[in-house]
Amino acid sequence: RLEIRDLTRAFAGRGVVSGVSLKVMPGQVTCLLGPSGCGKSTTLRIIAGVDRQDAGGVYVDGAPISEAGLHMPPEERGIGLMFQDFALFPHLDVARNVGFGLKGPKAEIRARVESLLDKVGMRRHIDRYPHELSGGEQQRVALARALAPSPRILLMDEPFSGLDDRLRDDIRDETLAVLKAEGTAVLLVTHEPAEAMRMADEIALMRDGRVVQYGAPYNIYNAPTDREAAAFFSDIN
Ligand code: ATP
Ligand code: MG
Repeated sequence: RLEIRDLTRAFAGRGVVSGVSLKVMPGQVTCLLGPSGCGKSTTLRIIAGVDRQDAGGVYVDGAPISEAGLHMPPEERGIGLMFQDFALFPHLDVARNVGFGLKGPKAEIRARVESLLDKVGMRRHIDRYPHELSGGEQQRVALARALAPSPRILLMDEPFSGLDDRLRDDIRDETLAVLKAEGTAVLLVTHEPAEAMRMADEIALMRDGRVVQYGAPYNIYNAPTDREAAAFFSDIN
């Protein structure tokens, strides 16, 4: 499980993340939801270890991976990343994109790659190159690649933003099914309430660097903490 406590980060004296705490359990999706500029991506970058907090800590299964005086390098954290620009390596076919960086006997890597591509429905495209795939297909391959090293924790930053509306709904559902089957703890960033309502077990509603409401989607939708939260959810129908 992933836990962050009182995470704080300022840029040039301006607080961008101010005391953010939350928890993600295995097999659960927690959505960090909020308007543009509220500090979502900064929070993810700190958890991934590519940025550093000024105060607070990040914990995996209760053990600190980052707090005062401790900064575990990103590649040792066992945390997978899937960001907005999920760009696959253009010069590698699907099999090598998904297997990239995996260590072990070739046959084992191939088996892992095939099984993941099965799960995302892309096995038949295993020999294609990214430019021979649609946006949705590339997104499926990117998910397989993010899951290839079996991360217990996966951070996703607006992973569906490049897709058209209808495709996005399908891919959200498929992605959710794969993540649940793998038992991954997922922290997903989005600025779309509808996406959070569809995907989240828990929502952390963020504004100006703070979590202003935290709980089950149903509760947040039905009992927004204030007018601004209510307005933010009001476009969903
Ligand atoms: P969006 O939904 O638009 O992606 P976000 O919630 O992910 O927004 P962040 O990227 O976390 O927002 O940025 C939060 C604020 O911090 C913004 O005002 C941004 O300009 C500022 N910021 C982010 N990174 C830096 C940096 N390296 N130096 C200075 N300011 C930064
Ligand atoms: Mg962002």
